[in-house]
Amino acid sequence: MLSRGTVGMLVILGSAFIGGTAFFFVWDHEHQVFSGLSPQNPSPDQAFYAELPATSTQATDTIAATSTGKSIDLPIVVYHIVRPSYPSDSAAVRAIALTPETFAAEMQHLKAGGYHVVRFSDLEAYFKDGTALPSKPIILSFDDGWGDQFVYAFPILEKYHYPATFFVFTNAIGRRGFLSWSDLHRMLAAGMTVGDHTRSHPYLTHITDQAVLWDEIYGSKQTLEKRLGVPVNEIAYPFGMYDPAIVALVKKAGYLSARGDYWSGNRQTADKLYALSAINAPTTTASFESRFP
Ligand SMILES: [Zn+2]
Repeated sequence: MLSRGTVGMLVILGSAFIGGTAFFFVWDHEHQVFSGLSPQNPSPDQAFYAELPATSTQATDTIAATSTGKSIDLPIVVYHIVRPSYPSDSAAVRAIALTPETFAAEMQHLKAGGYHVVRFSDLEAYFKDGTALPSKPIILSFDDGWGDQFVYAFPILEKYHYPATFFVFTNAIGRRGFLSWSDLHRMLAAGMTVGDHTRSHPYLTHITDQAVLWDEIYGSKQTLEKRLGVPVNEIAYPFGMYDPAIVALVKKAGYLSARGDYWSGNRQTADKLYALSAINAPTTTASFESRFP
């Protein structure tokens, strides 16, 4: 017989293992994608998301451990690829890709389930001023600025009048396979939000040159605001990686909130406005429906 204490310890260890596995699974796929990014290797997502050996060490979230204050369950869902699947799609692509049909079914499920799609600004107002949120609020976000998001996801979002936030990194805008400035203007006009995903999609935690770091965080924001003519108030950390020094720079740059990693669940707390929790979008309708009953 195992003592109650032993059972408890096994449960804790088991949970930590499962959580760690989920973290590595999601993080590793985006890492594989961006291992292939270079100015000489621009874009179509199949090449971009090619399976490459992961070389970096796994980083840890240094901020998430403790949090206090006002909190709310508000899922932030992170989408990467929405397009028809190809037989040649690698495992790395399949892990973060949804067909347009699956994406449409997920949006329909949100409607049928009584969810209300809100913006990051609504969550910011909730924490800052106590502005009420609708029942079953949820935030939809899209990463990396793939052109397919405009072709396949945007019309579905428009159909449901769901405002989503598109986190783009400025070096990619207008490149083959990526959103153009005119795509971004059209999505803004339709009620979407554009967020910052840095200049070059680096591991911010690996940058030691402070001028480079500031340009990734603030220079990219200036570029977006100048070209789009709107304030850019949110940033998503590439690979979900950040540390306290990066959070301090993000605040100094004038952002109102930041999306942290995307494997930490649905709970948002007031003191983590610059490291908001998020989850990777389930890639099947069944897994989405079980995640959001
Ligand atoms: Zn990204």
